[in-house]
Amino acid sequence: MLRSSTTAWAAKRASQMQYRALGKTDLEVSVVAFGAAPLGGVYGHTGPEEAKRAVHLAIDEGITFFDVSPYYGQSLAEHRLGAALEGRRNKVILATKCGRYGANEFDFSAHRVLASMDESLRRLRTDYVDLLLAHDVEFADLRQIVEETIPAMRRLQQMGKTRYIGVTGFPLRTLIHIARTTPVDAILSYCHYNLLADDMDAILAPLAENQGIGLINASPLCMGMLTEAGAPDWHPAPSEMREAARRAAEFCHDRGYDIADLALRFCFDYPRVATTLVGMATRAQVRSSLHAFEAPADPQMVRKVRAIFAPVFNRFWSSGREENQ
Ligand code: NAD
Repeated sequence: MLRSSTTAWAAKRASQMQYRALGKTDLEVSVVAFGAAPLGGVYGHTGPEEAKRAVHLAIDEGITFFDVSPYYGQSLAEHRLGAALEGRRNKVILATKCGRYGANEFDFSAHRVLASMDESLRRLRTDYVDLLLAHDVEFADLRQIVEETIPAMRRLQQMGKTRYIGVTGFPLRTLIHIARTTPVDAILSYCHYNLLADDMDAILAPLAENQGIGLINASPLCMGMLTEAGAPDWHPAPSEMREAARRAAEFCHDRGYDIADLALRFCFDYPRVATTLVGMATRAQVRSSLHAFEAPADPQMVRKVRAIFAPVFNRFWSSGREENQ
């Protein structure tokens, strides 16, 4: 998929967005979804007006699924998304999270989950979300997640404050343990299915299908690593991975490709997930993500880039408590 001008693309486009069911829920989510972490400044500053326009453009182009968390920018992302959704709430399927509030700040207690929901609803300017996810459960005692956090989230569901519930996290083993122990409606996994990794396909997707759990794939750009700009300073990947990503981006660039286009299209084509969450904060990013969705696939180029990644393929970093790795 060769680079091409998003302006030319914008002039001739008509939305071709596709939608898939999120597991057994009645939610139909757009295949391209809006990850709102960058609205909180996680990847650098974006002004509030541009952030709002990016959200509006995404909605106008058929993106219906939006994911946020109180953690992103210490609630800034929720504030900004809430402001942008004013008057448009009924056009979107909205997910937020609970349990994580800072780099090292976690509270998965029932008391905090219930309070957190009300705080998020105030910031998001709505009286319900469609999905509430326990955020990064590998940082918790998994017994607490099963015995206290999820039951509190189910109470919120009964109260009508969230339509469905689920979990997010990095180590697949942790997510699988929870899904085998207690029913959840959705699982958000990140950085386990993209140009650098695919173990989600063998490990998590079969379980999700068997149990009718909606699967959400996040971070198709491996948290910015699969872009020409490269990984942000805080990125946890080991240096060999960053170096391989830099070489792959150069390889693509020299042949007239943008590695981000290739990486996004690769994930959008993955049929075993309901949706792929791309972190976006500007109209340019929304446009280029939609361009990647609509451009033809390029399996030959994917194979070449995957060859560069072979030495670091399915290599991961640790996240959370030692016993949850
Ligand atoms: P990502 O892989 O989507 O990468 C985001 C980075 O890529 C940002 O710097 C963004 O500016 C840039 N970008 C976006 N579109 C681009 C394009 N078309 N071309 C070039 N660069 C582009 O990473 P992410 O934001 O971490 O993940 C997506 C979303 O998934 C998050 O915003 C969040 O909503 C969710 N998520 C959740 C968890 C969790 O629950 N634990 C973890 C990771 C991600």
